[in-house]
Amino acid sequence: MSKILILGAGIAGHTAASHLRRKLSKEHEVLVVSPNRNYQWVPSNIWVGTGRMKSEEVFFPLEPLYKRKGIGYKQAKVVSFHPDGDATETKPFVTVEYIFGENAGVQEKVNYDFLINATGPKLAFELTEGLNPGTNKAYSVCTYEHATHASEALHKLIADIKVSDKKAKILIGTGHAKATCQGAAFEYILNVEKELVRLGVRDKIELTWISNENELGDFGMDGMLLSYGNKTMKSSEMVEMVFADRGIKWVLGAGVSKIEDGIAHYENLKGEYKTEFFDFAMLIPSFSGHGFKAFDKNENDITAKLFKGFMIVDADYTAKPYEEWSVQDWPETYQNPSYANIFAPGIAFAPPHSISKPRKSINGTDIFPSPPRTGMPSGITAKLVADNIIDNIKNGKISLDHKGSMGNMGAACIASAGYGMTNGSGISITTFPIVPDYKKYPTSHGRDLRKTFGDIGLAGHWLKLTLHYAFIYKAKMKPFWWLIPE
Ligand SMILES: Cc1cc2nc3c(=O)[nH]c(=O)nc-3n(C[C@H](O)[C@H](O)[C@H](O)COP(=O)(O)OP(=O)(O)OC[C@H]3O[C@@H](n4cnc5c(N)ncnc54)[C@H](O)[C@@H]3O)c2cc1C
Repeated sequence: MSKILILGAGIAGHTAASHLRRKLSKEHEVLVVSPNRNYQWVPSNIWVGTGRMKSEEVFFPLEPLYKRKGIGYKQAKVVSFHPDGDATETKPFVTVEYIFGENAGVQEKVNYDFLINATGPKLAFELTEGLNPGTNKAYSVCTYEHATHASEALHKLIADIKVSDKKAKILIGTGHAKATCQGAAFEYILNVEKELVRLGVRDKIELTWISNENELGDFGMDGMLLSYGNKTMKSSEMVEMVFADRGIKWVLGAGVSKIEDGIAHYENLKGEYKTEFFDFAMLIPSFSGHGFKAFDKNENDITAKLFKGFMIVDADYTAKPYEEWSVQDWPETYQNPSYANIFAPGIAFAPPHSISKPRKSINGTDIFPSPPRTGMPSGITAKLVADNIIDNIKNGKISLDHKGSMGNMGAACIASAGYGMTNGSGISITTFPIVPDYKKYPTSHGRDLRKTFGDIGLAGHWLKLTLHYAFIYKAKMKPFWWLIPE
């Protein structure tokens, strides 16, 4: 009998738990430790953030589902890793701390045979002074709670504007010089724009995009050359067209460093220190590792064997200039090189290097997006990790036959640009591969143009809405859920 411990119940953790439970007999234990009692379908927080969806539509409680399916669950957070055990516990274990109920604050050792670290990113708001969601008129849509607050503040502003002659400014984008997740902010600004039009206040609000990208449409992926109808277009041109069409201004190469009440302070790539004023802002924070510590049997600190900010996996982390990195540097199995029974799918693994070209301001400040890790690769990498663990358990020896690198995996990003069955819109960008392979595709900016394309229209909105229902159905493990691809 084996025990598989999964840390985190986001897209990666929940996907891994679901597949493990379906494919392994009940003699093997599958246990999830996660601090949030709910599963949330993060992408739909965009619609919660404009008030077009209620938060209850994007989350559901984990415990009843896990009880029904035979998956163990502890509402707790992992605080330290002990992959060799310690003086009293011979098996590897992690220490977890309960955060809810009568056991809140109590710590416990939880042992395992296999460990899946799917703790995603830490939303590091504190790395930007004053960027605490709900303060200084700045909000976030990264969780359903943040998104609910954002929607309330947005609608309060709209209501105030409606009954006055006041004009207002909305600022949306990245809130840190190295923040990622530009795609989510892009989707949010388009939805906010549509909401302002719908409520008749668009002409009273100046809407501005602020981003650490050097060019529009970089998205932390070095931009894309994509097929659009029968044309080939740069993603920068496509996004510029979309913004120009909707009267959205933009500020690029901006490293936001401080937020005061309605003021964003930033430095740009020219080294200028500037400000943008706002009445409402949604700024994506920096994502960081959680700062976990690891210890050996004798309580010596071995954090460097497990973490490099995020968790170390089978990537090539050799420091080299941006021009010398290769797509082969990216991991394929998400296995920790020091401990064969530890894996980190989804956002929890440390990326080997930036995908977007690193840029510094003339003052030496790094200003460029960190690599994005979106939902589709999070699900795919979680499933392949689960499949490798299942093979190991069934065959009794370590094998890593299931592989998938972001250098040979595609991503479909559909940014809804308004909500409604007949007047919704979506901007769909499909990229293959996610990490550009400049050797294989030297003339098309590292991507296969037959599989990298953009589209704008109502169909994109329908698809995004279909994905919302399909993925919630899948996450609830309803009949034949496994037939829905990651
Ligand atoms: C607003 C928004 C919109 C997005 N839209 C899209 C989209 O349209 N398409 C797309 O592909 N991607 C999208 N993404 C990205 C996508 O949501 C992420 O790639 C995905 O959620 C990553 O999954 P994950 O499981 O690795 O991490 P997460 O979803 O962050 O899950 C991490 C889990 O770990 C838990 N955890 C945290 N700390 C601990 C701890 N100490 N111990 C145990 N557990 C812990 C958390 O509670 C959570 O359950 C969006 C992201 C945002 C923020």
